[in-house]
Amino acid sequence: MTGVRGDFSGIGMTSERTRARMVDRLRKQGIADEQVLAAMAAVPRHLFVDDAIAHRAYEDTSLPINFGQTISQPYVVAKMIEALMRGKPLGRVLEIGTGCGYQAAVLAQIAQEVFSVERIGELHERARANLRPLRLRNLRLVHGDGHLGLEQAAPYDSIVVAAAATQTPQALLQQLAPGGRMILPLRDGGGAAGATQRLVLIERGAHGYRETPLDAVRFVPLQNGKV
Ligand code: SAH
Repeated sequence: MTGVRGDFSGIGMTSERTRARMVDRLRKQGIADEQVLAAMAAVPRHLFVDDAIAHRAYEDTSLPINFGQTISQPYVVAKMIEALMRGKPLGRVLEIGTGCGYQAAVLAQIAQEVFSVERIGELHERARANLRPLRLRNLRLVHGDGHLGLEQAAPYDSIVVAAAATQTPQALLQQLAPGGRMILPLRDGGGAAGATQRLVLIERGAHGYRETPLDAVRFVPLQNGKV
């Protein structure tokens, strides 16, 4: 075994077909937005996981990406982006929790501009390497603590958080543009380990914020500070 990616059970050659099957499955699961489906079809998810599990990249499951973190399940990635859009352009997007960079790549297919923040320096670098061959000029990666958002490019039309908090970070509410939408997983029950999590959609109106609870989900925790 030389570890050449293209040789690995022919995954380079078959990945387009496998991705098309993943997209069919997403349709059956209820994802209907054609832009989201096209973006999911375009991004080679197998490039974002280790070679040893690349053959599982198109299963509808989260997978480990080192440092105790995971790449989100395709359905959840598609669902979050679809909930943010609802017929409106994504505009300028802030993602918290780059991880391996997969969702950032999907967002960058659709959005005008994407900023993605990761607290673990080594993962941030890994994401940069994963994303390089895709040459996404509208995507910026930042090493930082997502609790603070990213003031320098605020306000954002869309914010997506890929790690579960007990409360919506104040900075993110402030950095959401009027008319903007944020989606994030929130933990019920004071944040005890194993407590249930739910996706929550927050819309910023002229006079305040409106929250809509969506699906139950399972994300890694949003942690404090950058490392
Ligand atoms: N978006 C990724 C999901 C990554 S998992 C995907 O496409 O699959 C969630 C990520 O959030 C982890 O990499 C974790 O390190 C990161 N994270 C947790 N707390 C954070 C914080 N406060 N700021 C930024 N990133 C954080």
